[in-house]
Amino acid sequence: MSTLPPIPLVTLEPTPAVSCSNCAACCCQLEVLLLTDTGVPERYIDTDEWGGEVMARLDDGWCIALDRDTMRCTIYENRPWVCRIFEEGSPECLEEREQLTTIYR
Ligand code: SF4
Ligand code: SF4
Repeated sequence: MSTLPPIPLVTLEPTPAVSCSNCAACCCQLEVLLLTDTGVPERYIDTDEWGGEVMARLDDGWCIALDRDTMRCTIYENRPWVCRIFEEGSPECLEEREQLTTIYR
């Protein structure tokens, strides 16, 4: 009886947990409507085509309030209500993360 070579063991990369700390702030490219006054500075506010107030975004789509070095919100204490209810790990969050992964793949 011949002996087959052993199957090498491989260690799979663990799937990183869904966390804002290991995310490239995917959700900060979405349009953010300002539905309540949370103290967002005027200079960060834009008007959409229907006249609604939204967070201004730069040409590449990222929110103007995002620190592009740290990928953190620079107005966290005053962030819009929409940003507060966008939950880490929610279906919407997972969808955004998936889309970003696809873009960079
Ligand atoms: S809520 Fe989700 S998509 Fe937004 S920064 Fe956190 S992990 Fe990323
Ligand atoms: S206000 Fe802050 S949390 Fe909301 S989209 Fe902009 S950078 Fe992200």
